[in-house]
Amino acid sequence: MSDSNTLQAVRGMNDILPDEAELWLWFEDVVRDWLHSYGYRNIRMPLVEPTALFKRAIGEVTDIVEKEMYSFADALNGDHLTLRPEGTASCVRAALQHNLLYNAPQRLYYSGPMFRHERPQKGRYRQFHQFGVEALGFAGPDIDAEQILMCARLWRKLGLHDVTLQLNTLGDTASRHRHRAKLIGYFEQHLDMLDADATRRLHSNPLRILDSKNPAMQELISAAPRLADELEDDALSHFDEVQAILRRHDVAFEINPQLVRGLDYYNRTVFEWVTTRLGAQGTICAGGRYDGLVEQVGGKSTPATGFAMGVERLLALLQEDGMALPKAEVDVYVVHQGELASRLASVVAEQLRDDRLRVLLHCGGGSFKSQMKKADASGAAVAVVIGDDEAQANEVSVKPMQGGEQQRVSVQNLAATVNGIIK
Ligand code: ATP
Ligand code: MG
Repeated sequence: MSDSNTLQAVRGMNDILPDEAELWLWFEDVVRDWLHSYGYRNIRMPLVEPTALFKRAIGEVTDIVEKEMYSFADALNGDHLTLRPEGTASCVRAALQHNLLYNAPQRLYYSGPMFRHERPQKGRYRQFHQFGVEALGFAGPDIDAEQILMCARLWRKLGLHDVTLQLNTLGDTASRHRHRAKLIGYFEQHLDMLDADATRRLHSNPLRILDSKNPAMQELISAAPRLADELEDDALSHFDEVQAILRRHDVAFEINPQLVRGLDYYNRTVFEWVTTRLGAQGTICAGGRYDGLVEQVGGKSTPATGFAMGVERLLALLQEDGMALPKAEVDVYVVHQGELASRLASVVAEQLRDDRLRVLLHCGGGSFKSQMKKADASGAAVAVVIGDDEAQANEVSVKPMQGGEQQRVSVQNLAATVNGIIK
């Protein structure tokens, strides 16, 4: 199949072949309907941004910025550029740049590929896809809760019954500073138990240590000083209200004090939707509040909250549930032989498409018999058969593929006849 001369896709970057793409298209339709039902509007940003944007927004001392970004110097002018590893930073940058922010709050969504140089494995790729949802300019707990309710509705729509919600609050700046100082003090007392990453981050970003996936450090991490003990009243009542709304809507959740998220921009509410069915890649959707980000990217302080879901992981779950791939259907396959017949065939095919029918026009010649085999394999409900004899009379033969009499009709009556058979 492949020798050393055959070019392959970049490791961790996947082709999505037509059969699987059917599932993607179906999924994207469902998600877009759902987003529109909550009043979110689409925004599309470039795949490439100035590297400085992500350093500023995501944080210098994070896995993404330290080791996962595809960054390069533009060969022509030396600009420092990065393939986007996530969408929130770009979305905020775009909203700021085009003055979407300060007049009215915005509910925005985007979708598309993201790029992170991670170790490829099931559910973890170097090019992967997200749907991202951002509400800019909303300060209250109502929007945090609405975004979580939205997710719950999507899981119901998709028939996913075993995703669970993990919830935490990261508080505000002052409490985070106090917590940070306590964390540094605590980890300094256990220097011998820190791995290399943690040692390096001890003073630059100790909160990140809590996000470590190293099993050897979990015990140390679970005994670390808790942010929950430092929270101010405002942040606490915000968090209480989010929980109260979720309870009113019967959305179950689990408070996870360890949940800090891998990006620095979050404050207050953070959440992740998790499944146990995808191994270590069990988070299908994650997000939270990021009130400081707009200012960090250069704007005026603006509250905001959002989340992103991993399309590959969601589709893997659906496929595991035995979700049948919807197949694109063709209504009509047009079979033809002879010069006059071929000319009529392409006219007839266009005419049927005018009538909103899905039509495959046979291309490449061959006997009637071999063309009929292709018609059969196409899954079309109807074959339209044209020989020179029919063409001369400006007529065609219509053959229902599921059985039934073949009939000869005028070109004028063709669409009605086909529609009659399909219905
Ligand atoms: P993880 O902890 O699994 O690395 P993350 O916290 O880095 O995830 P986010 O930045 O929050 O992920 O991205 C939101 C969602 O995008 C994740 O919950 C996941 O579903 C998906 N995702 C993130 N990284 C990848 C990847 N490399 N491959 C596939 N999906 C991914
Ligand atoms: Mg990650």
